[in-house]
Amino acid sequence: MGRFDSALMVQDGNRQVFELLGEYLYSPLYKMVLKKDVGRLEAAVKGCTEEEAVDECVQLIDAQGEYEKYIVSVRRDGSEGYYIEFQNVSVDKQQAKSFKKRLLMADDFLTVAGNLFFTYTPRLNHFHMFWVNDEQKVDVFNTNLDEWMDQMTGGNLVMGQDREVFEMFCEVLREAEHGHTFRFRGSILNKGESRDAYRIKFLPRVYDGEKVVLGTWTVINEQTGNEVEDYVEGSYVDPLTRILNKRAITEYAEEAAASGEKIALALIDIDNFKDVNDTYGHLFGDQVIAATADIARKVVGEKGAVGRIGGDEFMVVMKRYEDELDLRNYLRTIKTRVASLFQDRLNGNRISCSIGAARAGIDADNYKDLFRIADKALYIAKQKGRNRFIIYKPELHGQFNVSDDDYDMTEIRDTFYSAKDMNRLNELLADTIINGSSRLPGLLEHAAHTLMLDRLFIVWGEERQVLAAYPAEYKLTEDSRDILEGQQYQQMFHNDMLMITNVNMLEYSMPEAYGLYRGNGVLSLMQHLLRDRGGRCIGMMMAEECTNMRHFPQLAQQLFESMCHIVNAVLIKEGLDK
Ligand code: GH3
Ligand code: MG
Repeated sequence: MGRFDSALMVQDGNRQVFELLGEYLYSPLYKMVLKKDVGRLEAAVKGCTEEEAVDECVQLIDAQGEYEKYIVSVRRDGSEGYYIEFQNVSVDKQQAKSFKKRLLMADDFLTVAGNLFFTYTPRLNHFHMFWVNDEQKVDVFNTNLDEWMDQMTGGNLVMGQDREVFEMFCEVLREAEHGHTFRFRGSILNKGESRDAYRIKFLPRVYDGEKVVLGTWTVINEQTGNEVEDYVEGSYVDPLTRILNKRAITEYAEEAAASGEKIALALIDIDNFKDVNDTYGHLFGDQVIAATADIARKVVGEKGAVGRIGGDEFMVVMKRYEDELDLRNYLRTIKTRVASLFQDRLNGNRISCSIGAARAGIDADNYKDLFRIADKALYIAKQKGRNRFIIYKPELHGQFNVSDDDYDMTEIRDTFYSAKDMNRLNELLADTIINGSSRLPGLLEHAAHTLMLDRLFIVWGEERQVLAAYPAEYKLTEDSRDILEGQQYQQMFHNDMLMITNVNMLEYSMPEAYGLYRGNGVLSLMQHLLRDRGGRCIGMMMAEECTNMRHFPQLAQQLFESMCHIVNAVLIKEGLDK
């Protein structure tokens, strides 16, 4: 902030002002201003009063002889002079550059690096608030001004006295006659979570005959009065990767899906990432995550947005792709670039990722279903050997049925069974009935795939041999029979069926069983007793989950149970119980 005389020669000021003026210290400020902007500065000087400052965006020459953009805020002092505040808005030139590219109108934009911007178009009564982060532009609101106002007041996002100021802000914005600054408090940006203080500046402009109001929306720390510079970062950006965080990308995807646009939703998961961490260390793992995010962000560019939704998992929302071929090209580019990461440091190993995608308007029309289908496609990509992308196609992957169980994000994998997989399972069961136990390995493999189990095996006979298993090499330890057929353990079965969501619950009540499962890496399981013709227990069918603890949905329990009945019948019929 500096004090200037009537000719805009500096009288007094802080260090920033003196540094800024440099060799122009003894010239009127007008001399530093880019010629075409001089008129604007003059207008601001003319228009301001003691009470009210006028903001203008002008370019000032710096010590290197280059012009940089500043918002100058001019206010009259008591006598003939002026107080002028300068705010450099091209602090991060790179950011300013990409920003400028993005908005054709940016030349006049009141930009304050790293913050929220808005435009209001009076002809359409349209209010659009967004923020820009590297190549990503994310809408916070994009709506009719009246609807937005109703939403804010109706949702109690602006309260008490601040409400009057808020309403006045909307009024003045609607008139679009002059620039203005407003301050009020509310919870508009975090949708009711906590209250922040805002400073809003705006300014009407005309582009190609269309009046547009340009504004910035800044969050202010109430104690210090300073701008909260990382507000946007803190609430929307994942700190490691600088792409959207889970909340922001989820909101983005929900809104995009709800808008009815033809979006595609893709989930990317780095392959065998645990091994990457184990082999090269966690820090290197972090670099891989950041580099993968960077690739996805660059490939998607302005066509959509990218966010991190888990450790090594990302979500991509593609808003503007032409057709399937176009989408394939984007996904292939991401996959290929990830596969070329850190080649020099991996001694012949490769980083890779798997991608599953679903398309709105074709596969589903709401976010939740899109997510589930993309997740299933990702699962299939992993099953098929990783390092690939799969765009879900009902004709290839089967129609999905959602079970009635409640689900959340982590359980989504469990709630889908493709009709195709189910039909195949029935075929294999029929085949086993006709052709006997030699068909069991194929049946187990497909059942494990359909029910998404890590292991599925059958123990049968006086010696309790592993009769068939998926994966094929699976063996049980010697002492397991004593444990699993002990009286206490058997009491947990109901109608020969047992389901344990979390083996930790056995830790104190049945330490041996607990030790057995921990030793085998089992987290959740289903078991069914197998009996001989006389009803004596003579084996068990076991389904185990080792990667995630999970609740088996009802449909999975039912499928498992009926499969066990059929398998048991086949084994009895073959006389393998003798
Ligand atoms: P898959 O191919 O089936 O995806 O195998 P995976 O090993 O990648 O398995 P998964 O995706 O389940 O593993 C994710 C791992 O990522 C687990 C966790 O240790 C690791 N991880 C999670 N967050 C971070 C992180 O911020 N940094 C690093 N370095 N590792 C992380
Ligand atoms: Mg992974």
